[in-house]
Amino acid sequence: MGSINAVGVQNSGRRYLPTMDQGAEGRSPNQYLVPLTTRVNSRDCLEVGGCDVTELIQQFGSPLYILDEETLRATCRQYQAAFQRHYLGQYQVLYASKAWNCLAVCAIVHSEGLGIDIVSGGELFTALQAGVSPGKLYLHGNNKSEEELRLAIENGCKIVVDNWHELKTLVDLGGDNPNIQNPIRILIRLTPGIECHTHEYIRTGHLDSKFGFDPNELDAVFRFISQHPQLECCGLHAHIGSQIFELQPHSDLGTVMVQWFSKAAQYGLPVQELNIGGGLGICYTEADDPPSIDAWVQVVSQAITSACQENQIPLPKLLCEPGRSLIGTACVTAYTLGSQKTVPDIRTYVTVDGGMSDNPRPITYQSVYRAVVANRMSAPCTETVTIAGKHCESGDILIKEANLPKTEPSDILVVLNTGAYNYSMASNYNRLPRPAAVLVNQGEANIILQRESYQDLIRQDCLPERLR
Ligand SMILES: *Cc1c(COP(=O)(O)O)cnc(C)c1O
Repeated sequence: MGSINAVGVQNSGRRYLPTMDQGAEGRSPNQYLVPLTTRVNSRDCLEVGGCDVTELIQQFGSPLYILDEETLRATCRQYQAAFQRHYLGQYQVLYASKAWNCLAVCAIVHSEGLGIDIVSGGELFTALQAGVSPGKLYLHGNNKSEEELRLAIENGCKIVVDNWHELKTLVDLGGDNPNIQNPIRILIRLTPGIECHTHEYIRTGHLDSKFGFDPNELDAVFRFISQHPQLECCGLHAHIGSQIFELQPHSDLGTVMVQWFSKAAQYGLPVQELNIGGGLGICYTEADDPPSIDAWVQVVSQAITSACQENQIPLPKLLCEPGRSLIGTACVTAYTLGSQKTVPDIRTYVTVDGGMSDNPRPITYQSVYRAVVANRMSAPCTETVTIAGKHCESGDILIKEANLPKTEPSDILVVLNTGAYNYSMASNYNRLPRPAAVLVNQGEANIILQRESYQDLIRQDCLPERLR
């Protein structure tokens, strides 16, 4: 595995090397730079899920998302095992599917016993088509349409209510519609005044966020619900941010939420679920140092357990909804290298056959990624180059400073940790067809998302008669 050191992790020793020996070291997939099944084979090529990445490109084309089933399943199991270990009450892990919502991912995650968060009618439809039990679906969003609400309710999903407008809409929907089973099961989303950035967090009375109710409104919300039999409040929800490396914010969140929770009894509401959101970070580079899944679940469980003891209330059913930390590490994106341009004394641009359309995170959030050259894994990293995309946009840079071996056109470049918010945020900018995605497992590779064709690109185009 020496060549994974080419990712630039020489200093960190074993730490980022993939190993299935997770339990002993207490590491979890979100702490690795590569999928758990990553190997270098005898041809010096990168292998994921038992498949040679260069052969995958030959078979399925380029660029290609490669999703490692074993890593995804192992991550689901680590969340489940951690709750089993640290929480004495009931629990349910949900996958925040906005990170990557498609039939295969929904089906895998559901088969591991997870529920699924959805934020639109489209995500809801996909999860249902994948066979996810509607009772394990939670609809989020700060501006759900009536159609989305109706679809969710008619299918028996729970609704995470964001605001007064939505509460009132639900009351209206629940009233007379014979298709809608009363009461409608809802959770209330609150904005706890805990704000997280990756390396700091602040606690304020109010938070400037478009999501959720102000906690000061909780009494009014509970009162409203208790006066409307169309609604059944089964839980409370909060989500404080993403790519979080600290444990304290979620510990504080647990404590605050139990205080909210203990109020519900005053209004005779059957509130049972506490959903503490997602947000656990992953390693995009060797500089990232997120806690393990186990540590995160432990801290949250302890905070909630001790707050419940203090308030002398029974343990709620505890829910969490990881997105990034569940799927980020499980996928890599393989590209074929093309043109190069050296600007003397400044930098060398090395261009891939994709870019901001398949991974909009660098241009959107200045996100940093690591990459390896899949067909020459043991070659020493002697160059620092800029990996550019092929889009007509100067900012279309995937990696500003990549440490790589000397590369040539048609080398296969693999960008790591692209499972979260890559395919789900992909676009057809410049009319690039979206790449295919394959699911790899023990040497088998199955298409889970077909590569778009040019015909797909004009599928929704219409040419009015008078323009022909
Ligand atoms: C985005 C989101 C998540 C998942 O966040 P991650 O950082 O990907 O774990 C969970 N819950 C809600 C409400 C979200 O909006």
